Amino acid sequence: MDFAITTDQAARIARLRQLGREQMRPAGWRADRAGAPLPADDPFFTRMLAEGFGRTRWRPPGGADGTGSAATAPNKAESAVTQVLLAEEGAYWDRGIGVALPGPGLGEPAILSMGTPEQQQRFLAPFVDPAKPIWGAFAMTEPSGGSDVANIKTRARRDGDGWVIDGAKSFSGNAGRAEWIVVFATVDPALGRAGHRAFVVERGTPGLADFRTEKKMGLKAYESTSFFLSGCRVPHANLLGGEDYYRQRSGGFKGAMNTFNAGRPAIAGMAVGIGRAALDEAAQAMQAQGLWSDQRLRDRLERHRRKLKGALLLALKAAWLADQRQPNMLEASAAKAMAPPAAFDATAFAMEVLGLAGGAGEHLVEKLFRDVKALDIVEGTGQIQRVVMSRHLVGLPN
Ligand SMILES: Cc1cc2nc3c(=O)[nH]c(=O)nc-3n(C[C@H](O)[C@H](O)[C@H](O)COP(=O)(O)OP(=O)(O)OC[C@H]3O[C@@H](n4cnc5c(N)ncnc54)[C@H](O)[C@@H]3O)c2cc1C
Repeated sequence: MDFAITTDQAARIARLRQLGREQMRPAGWRADRAGAPLPADDPFFTRMLAEGFGRTRWRPPGGADGTGSAATAPNKAESAVTQVLLAEEGAYWDRGIGVALPGPGLGEPAILSMGTPEQQQRFLAPFVDPAKPIWGAFAMTEPSGGSDVANIKTRARRDGDGWVIDGAKSFSGNAGRAEWIVVFATVDPALGRAGHRAFVVERGTPGLADFRTEKKMGLKAYESTSFFLSGCRVPHANLLGGEDYYRQRSGGFKGAMNTFNAGRPAIAGMAVGIGRAALDEAAQAMQAQGLWSDQRLRDRLERHRRKLKGALLLALKAAWLADQRQPNMLEASAAKAMAPPAAFDATAFAMEVLGLAGGAGEHLVEKLFRDVKALDIVEGTGQIQRVVMSRHLVGLPN
């Protein structure tokens, strides 16, 4: 494994650092103070679109220029290592803003891994060079619980040339403003994972309704939305992958799991970024309060830094394995299990150093303390990662 950061990665991190300092952290702070997500028409999103955000990595077959050149090759994948590095830097400035940014979001990996070429064209082409900020979303979690993914209750039944979906979804990022939402449902709960199907439900579809933005303790910059599907009719063409996909792969569950596995090292990187930001604030406060000479505090600061560094290395290893197309489930779960608690401890330490200034609720550290908790929950909680690893340890299938 090569630990060197390439010139391209360094340049992208430096650019993100500048945007983070000048635009992302102020925007995230603004949303946190308002206690509400940035509205979809906030000029911040148009500025970020001009900076190159909000695009898909999908490319039309033959490339955008029709030449099939490497620069425009179809679905040119971002290296997973680069994703971790950028996720860490982005979250250092504001993790909520990272999710609030326009783009196909978590729906994109599902469409890329499961969708037919025609579906990729239909749903991702609008994100190649959008004229205005647009969003996609992903909805798996339900009010009855998100960890037991295999047991989703939202029902899909075949009806003529389409499908009718009934159920409820929770906490889907950007769903209220999305052009489409990738919705997971089951054709028969008794079939378990084999009964899963993924549908692209387009905005304005009758029966897709009752959007409610959840009040979150942190990451307030983006909307986490719960909604209902009541007799929601979608055309057969919106079943991701078509019938063949599910016949060959015993349901859509594997597609969802692929989506998650690709994200876990990046989520770990984000946690490390938040922890690093908190420790930088703590170090500044220690200096301002003349606490540099306190050996015990310095020791604790160093310990937190070391734990974050270790978690980041694990995330990079998991990402490197993904880039080598080697199995990375164990490393991805280990990184996701380790990084958020290490980052949580780092923010708690920073709160302690700040004392009353932290508790008063006007300091960045207090926001980081609230933001970091979600990283232990999203894309598989810490407990679930430990379940995955322990099953692996004794050779049980996951
Ligand atoms: C900020 C945020 C953004 C999100 N974005 C999205 C999104 O875009 N799309 C989407 O579909 N979902 C999203 N989610 C939902 C997220 O995926 C779920 O919250 C997560 O899967 C956990 O589900 P749950 O909260 O229902 O907890 P539950 O599954 O009800 O679990 C409750 C507790 O029990 C523990 N637990 C459960 N089962 C076991 C077990 N077998 N062994 C040990 N412990 C167990 C869990 O770890 C957890 O601590 C988001 C959530 C948050 C907080």
